Amino acid sequence: METRPRLGRHPNYVSGLAPTPDALKPYIDCELVHGHWFFLDRKPTRRHDATGQAMIRVRQFPLDAGVFNVARVLLEHRHGELPPRTAVYSTCGLPQCINPDHWAFAWPAPRYRLDAVPVADGSVWRLVVQKTGAVLDRAAAVLLEIDGVVHRVDALPERPLAAACGTVVDPLHASVVTRAVSCQGCR
Ligand SMILES: [Zn+2]
Ligand SMILES: [Zn+2]
Repeated sequence: METRPRLGRHPNYVSGLAPTPDALKPYIDCELVHGHWFFLDRKPTRRHDATGQAMIRVRQFPLDAGVFNVARVLLEHRHGELPPRTAVYSTCGLPQCINPDHWAFAWPAPRYRLDAVPVADGSVWRLVVQKTGAVLDRAAAVLLEIDGVVHRVDALPERPLAAACGTVVDPLHASVVTRAVSCQGCR
């Protein structure tokens, strides 16, 4: 039975409002013996939720307030945004610990693979569902690795593949991955 605490999501992720590790530093108490990091709360903007995980609320006029899971913020600062379905588990057993070294995860397996065949004026591509082998006939958001860089791509069947940053993707040299987006223009 899985008993290790599992890292929660951001209650309300607002792009651009996530605090940096430096901004969080004054509120982090590092325990020396076991290396746990604890979040100093007792403020309306800093608290622990019902599962014991540290949360911070960041407000910036005129944007909505963002509410962030502090351990996830620190982990994502190190590894990049974790794709959906990435299970993150505590390795020290303390849900309130925010030391990124005390949380472990495995990238989930991609749902699709990219098949491409060369044709006279380039190549044609299709996304295939890994589990069933079925060809996907609708648009899908995927992460594609090209030359070691992970881009975000909205793949529309029978249309050229283009990443969010504008990069035109050669499907013969791209593969579906589930990792953090590493292209700055695709974030
Ligand atoms: Zn810990
Ligand atoms: Zn990109």
